[in-house]
Amino acid sequence: MVKRIDPGQTIGIIGGGQLGRMMAISAKQMGYRIAVLDPTPNSPTGQVADVEITAAYNDLEAAKKLLQESDVVTYEFESIDVGVCEYLVEHGYVPQGSELIRISQDRAFEKKAIEESGAKVVTYELVENIDELKRATQSIGYPCVLKTRRGGYDGKGQQILYEELDLAQAIEVLEKGPCILEQFLPFEKELSVIVNRNTLGEVRSFPVAENIHVNHILLQSIVPARVVPTIQDKAKKAAEQLAESMDMVGTLGVEMFLTQEGDIYINEVAPRPHNSGHYTIDACETNQFEQHIRALIGTPLGKPKLNTSVVMMNVLGEHLQEVVLRIPDVSNAKLHLYGKSEVKPKRKMGHVNFLGYHTKGLLQQTRDLEIWRQ
Ligand code: ADP
Ligand code: MG
Repeated sequence: MVKRIDPGQTIGIIGGGQLGRMMAISAKQMGYRIAVLDPTPNSPTGQVADVEITAAYNDLEAAKKLLQESDVVTYEFESIDVGVCEYLVEHGYVPQGSELIRISQDRAFEKKAIEESGAKVVTYELVENIDELKRATQSIGYPCVLKTRRGGYDGKGQQILYEELDLAQAIEVLEKGPCILEQFLPFEKELSVIVNRNTLGEVRSFPVAENIHVNHILLQSIVPARVVPTIQDKAKKAAEQLAESMDMVGTLGVEMFLTQEGDIYINEVAPRPHNSGHYTIDACETNQFEQHIRALIGTPLGKPKLNTSVVMMNVLGEHLQEVVLRIPDVSNAKLHLYGKSEVKPKRKMGHVNFLGYHTKGLLQQTRDLEIWRQ
């Protein structure tokens, strides 16, 4: 059922982190009210919401309350209990459905959905114990990466295995639950594409981002990605085909590996706005958060056109002090902070978008600032 949600109506968000906050800011600009469900009061989203429900994500009573407050419900992260999500879909308006959550929570379901769309994935095997892992390393070979099927993020729940001796370390990962063993791909670049599909079936994707991770955490996104146009088209097409094949509504952040031969492998997907799409806030005609809201409210999607070159730098706990001191004086740098009171190393506190004509100059500028020393 396609419904039109009008300004003045309320958008409910499960999860109160920075992604919810930026969704809420876009939605409020468009005239909507926001209700949020998060276990912590005054969360990044709670600070900008009209209604704050403070309870565990998987508390069914709290989810019911969110439904009562909201005309449409979305989520800003994928670790919601599928049962709670199914309840919401049945009793409220959740155009994204629960299937996308089910798939993206488990790397095995995720890989299968990606393969079904016709995209390439790295060779993998599902393993549950040390014997299965040993057998899988024999067929996949070293180096390889062991990942928990569920619950991993920013490289957590992962172990690279270079040789048989490393199997001892793998036990810690195996103890967390069922796992997936992947071939380690010596990629040339990591790319991502944010793709949106609305309730009317319209699909649009944002320009390809080139992503640099440090310690498995995204540090930098460079847009336009420094790859030839045929690769850009190939990456966008793969993401769009996946969105169609999954019959998804909302936002899909699609992470990819590009090999030296020009092949694209899809690594993983997120059913929500993605850190590598934060550049869109200042550099695109429509940003990923407005696009996400548009996808849910029954309006056409906006133009994802890139207006300028951009380099996005994540602000982690260890960068915050210098960023706050110096970035406000940099005229082409747009600072976004998430309102988190507790500062911890590696915690995502905000991001900065550096805008300009030439990527090379922007990259030099970020190096000269010496804030993001690697
Ligand atoms: P997370 O959920 O933690 O983001 P990812 O699967 O994206 O998990 O892995 C984090 C990072 O580890 C990737 O961005 C990439 O740099 C590296 N990585 C993961 N899987 C592979 C692989 N099969 N081959 C090479 N590098 C990988
Ligand atoms: Mg990832």
